[in-house]
Amino acid sequence: MTFAIPPPSAEAQLTFLSKLQRLFAEGDFTATYKYALLISLADLAVELGADDGSDLLLSTRQIGDRFIQLYWRQAVPYGAGHSGASPGILVQNNGTQAAVVSAVAAFRVRIQVSSPQVARALPEFQALLATVAQTVSAQPLTYMQNFGGATDEFLFDRPGAGQVRLKPGVAYCLRRFQPLVQQLARSHWVGHLKGNRRNHVILGAADDLEEFLFATPRQSLAILVDGLKRLEGAKCFYCEHGLNTVDVDHFIPFAQYPRDLAHNFVLAHPGCNRSKSDSLAAKPHLERWLERTRRLADDIAEIGASAGMVVAAAVSQQIARWGYASAIHSGGRAWLAAGRYDLVDGSYQDCFSNSGV
Ligand SMILES: [Zn+2]
Repeated sequence: MTFAIPPPSAEAQLTFLSKLQRLFAEGDFTATYKYALLISLADLAVELGADDGSDLLLSTRQIGDRFIQLYWRQAVPYGAGHSGASPGILVQNNGTQAAVVSAVAAFRVRIQVSSPQVARALPEFQALLATVAQTVSAQPLTYMQNFGGATDEFLFDRPGAGQVRLKPGVAYCLRRFQPLVQQLARSHWVGHLKGNRRNHVILGAADDLEEFLFATPRQSLAILVDGLKRLEGAKCFYCEHGLNTVDVDHFIPFAQYPRDLAHNFVLAHPGCNRSKSDSLAAKPHLERWLERTRRLADDIAEIGASAGMVVAAAVSQQIARWGYASAIHSGGRAWLAAGRYDLVDGSYQDCFSNSGV
């Protein structure tokens, strides 16, 4: 492989990781915005970045849109039905409620729509997006790179109004270490909410905070399962035998890319799902998934939209391409069937080029 701009050296990648560690250790996290910003930048790098060392130009509106998605389900009361808890919207700031949460909550009360995907088509959404983008610009983008008593612009600079440029090598590192960045940001986010005294009465003894913050609601998954059954029949995507009890499986494992995208879901036997676990799927499955995603792109998008999920087939394909490229890099193994695995080698790339991804 030749690169127009070479990827960062191993040394530079280690420097990136240690700066990220310092940012978490020494940064000032008065609100949860910086966690949301890291997650947003890592997701955008996976979806829009390249596997070389080039910089990546983003807009504050693109990042603002990610913030709305992240805070959408957090802008409703948590704690309903938990013993010892009194329901309320979690406080995401050490002072008054975080402005993004208030803006999203007010929008959801005023405009009763089920998901940010549906909301995006409405004219009112533009005003919300402008407000959120402004807050993102004035707060986390301004303060993120201040830590340890100094400013270290190792992640991005801001070349013009409304622009954010990931520096050369940063998109590469965010793509390569995406699961690690996500895990760090999420666990610190959960810790921040638990550490805020004003959330204690809302949290009570509940222990599903991470699920509430980041997982797709069960009723959305139920809508998706019904739709996929009608579309593809009640059979397991992996072994292709009929199903009675259905699991919905993340084709690219949730552990690797923890965001719910409609085209990334397939139906599977609970046994096949458990056996595959957090592995990538082997080549025959990948080829079938690419073919199916292309052929049924619009139908799956329609089902996903009714379940309130992100529905761009191209995004799912890019994430799959990235997931397998990471595995090629690191000598990963892919699951074929119970107890059978295959080394992910360069030939997996051909599946993508053959299907035009
Ligand atoms: Zn099966």
